[in-house]
Amino acid sequence: MICRRPVLTIWEKLYLPSIAQGLMVTVRHLFRKRVTVQYPEERWIPPSYFRGAPILLTGLDGQEKCTSCKLCQFICPPKAITIKGAETEDHKEKYPEEFFIDMGLCIFCGYCQEVCPVEAIWLKHQYELADYDRTALIFDKKKLLEMGRMAPYLKGREKPVQGGGE
Ligand code: SF4
Ligand code: SF4
Repeated sequence: MICRRPVLTIWEKLYLPSIAQGLMVTVRHLFRKRVTVQYPEERWIPPSYFRGAPILLTGLDGQEKCTSCKLCQFICPPKAITIKGAETEDHKEKYPEEFFIDMGLCIFCGYCQEVCPVEAIWLKHQYELADYDRTALIFDKKKLLEMGRMAPYLKGREKPVQGGGE
């Protein structure tokens, strides 16, 4: 197939109109609302539908909700979740002795949250996860529960509302 070059008019060959058009775009943006922030001095506040790092939730009694059913581990596309379950005398019968999420693998898809039958895992507004060491991105149960306790949507509510915290 032969692609013929378009024949430019003298006006187009001058390039000046195109440069002026480009500058007009720049000038227009000068007067628009700024969307960039001076991170880290300024922090971006995510919208309510934002899905950040998955965390583990506790009930009003302060106990972890997870029953170690491993549905989240099974459904997780990049296999970022690793759970070691154990039996308990408690009414839920099982609990996660170990619960790891590799945030370096997590794609924040929210499948774990969708599939969890007891709403024990939730995608929080935490997006500052960068680290120099990949192993530091493997969060254990203690850290995941700690992040869950700090979640603002837990205050005064038994269940998180759809869409996460505000
Ligand atoms: S958000 Fe998706 S990728 Fe991340 S742990 Fe949950 S299921 Fe896995
Ligand atoms: S977080 Fe939910 S889905 Fe995952 S093991 Fe615990 S109870 Fe099951």
